[in-house]
Amino acid sequence: MGKSGAADDDADNWFATPPLPPARAALASDMDVDVCVIGAGLAGLTTALEVARRGWSVAVLERRRIAWNASGRNCGIVGPGYAEDIRHIVARVGLDHARQLWALSQAGVDYVRARIAEGISDVDAQPGWLLVSKFDSGDALLPLVSLLGQEFGAQIEGWPCERVRASLRSERYYHGIYYPDAFNIHPLNYALGLARAAEKAGARIFEHTPALAIDPAGVRKRITTASGRLRAAHVVVAGSVHVGAIMPSLAGTLLPITAGVMVTAPLGPRLHEAIVFAGGVSDSLGPDFDFRIVGGDRLMWSGGLATWNADPRRWVAPFRRALARTFPQLGAVDVEYAWAGVMGMALHKMPQIGELAPGTWVASGFGGHGINTTAMAGELIASAIVDGDDRWRLFRPYDLMWAGDVVGRGVVQVAYWGSRLREGVALRRARRREQRRLRKVAGLESFRL
Ligand SMILES: Cc1cc2nc3c(=O)[nH]c(=O)nc-3n(C[C@H](O)[C@H](O)[C@H](O)COP(=O)(O)OP(=O)(O)OC[C@H]3O[C@@H](n4cnc5c(N)ncnc54)[C@H](O)[C@@H]3O)c2cc1C
Repeated sequence: MGKSGAADDDADNWFATPPLPPARAALASDMDVDVCVIGAGLAGLTTALEVARRGWSVAVLERRRIAWNASGRNCGIVGPGYAEDIRHIVARVGLDHARQLWALSQAGVDYVRARIAEGISDVDAQPGWLLVSKFDSGDALLPLVSLLGQEFGAQIEGWPCERVRASLRSERYYHGIYYPDAFNIHPLNYALGLARAAEKAGARIFEHTPALAIDPAGVRKRITTASGRLRAAHVVVAGSVHVGAIMPSLAGTLLPITAGVMVTAPLGPRLHEAIVFAGGVSDSLGPDFDFRIVGGDRLMWSGGLATWNADPRRWVAPFRRALARTFPQLGAVDVEYAWAGVMGMALHKMPQIGELAPGTWVASGFGGHGINTTAMAGELIASAIVDGDDRWRLFRPYDLMWAGDVVGRGVVQVAYWGSRLREGVALRRARRREQRRLRKVAGLESFRL
């Protein structure tokens, strides 16, 4: 294996080749701004860009480098929706409210597309996102397809098994849901492009500048760093799971979920024979594996879930086994990159977006569905601060909830392992059913002969 980057270090990932641009300077003196954003991941960068575009002064404090964590290490699939299942959202808030939330998630997709059209370069956008089922449960997908297509106006297609298998030549896959409007990007270049656009619009970004404390009292909030103090009318906390001590009330509501990613060595034409699909693939509706072709003929494969800061190398062997089961025709595959990233997830699996106290805002908890939702959150919060837009209140049903610390992590980890076990059983049953069907057809054929 060439390179590997743990979730909490700055080592390269596939997206960080070639190396990052030189670091922006750290904050070196006191400063007064309208808005201080804490965290230069996708949520913080979009907020800063949107505040600056509206003509207000904004400074971003980043404890390490721009997008060093999840925002620059994810799989780059940009599709509508949330980490939470839309059917659960409908059950919780009702159909009308869910419709508005879905529309916001779609607006996040459109936002990313618009920024790329405006000139964020080197994102290598590839169309399409396919969610495939590993069970022969096509009937179960139909209500979802009709809910999204008819009730929510989503661009969506239900794919039968034959169409899925013509695109992904694997006997493990059955039906699918295809989003033609979704696309896939180089996430780190997108984040770096957002940073440049924000600076062009007047934002200041300080790297290697951890916010050490926030004093939210009073009209001007005070944010302390090691090298200077910021005073701002509004502070937007977009630090995700690393926000820690500066806002324990928020940190306690986020579960840190680590996921792994590997990228193979170039595989040549055999890859395109196995995967005749340029877009992103998520296999099964629950969290399992995401994959897509990158760099012409390499395969990016992502998944796993750990509630501790796991070494990415631990996933390489199980990922390889899953790949061999799914596409045995690929044969032996070398893995050249493996890294991990940590995402923040609330127990309700919905983003935390809104004003916690006058002038103190939060944008976090995007889970594994963060590219569209961070874009939407940044736009929503900037327009709330500058224009008094109150659409963020649509997220009110998803309040900050204590995530249970170590116990919460344990519960989530065990639930994940349990879902993998159940999925394994269901998968074997589906395979047995299919083999029985095939034997029956073969029997009929020989009878006809
Ligand atoms: C392996 C993996 C694959 C994924 N794949 C996809 C995908 O294909 N599609 C999708 O939509 N989503 C995906 N996601 C999810 C998505 O990447 C995240 O939801 C999103 O990037 C979260 O962005 P963020 O800005 O909230 O957090 P982060 O990217 O974690 O950024 C937060 C930033 O805040 C900084 N910070 C924290 N505290 C402080 C402080 N006190 N002072 C200064 N700075 C601070 C941190 O250093 C960090 O840079 C994936 C995530 C992972 C881990």
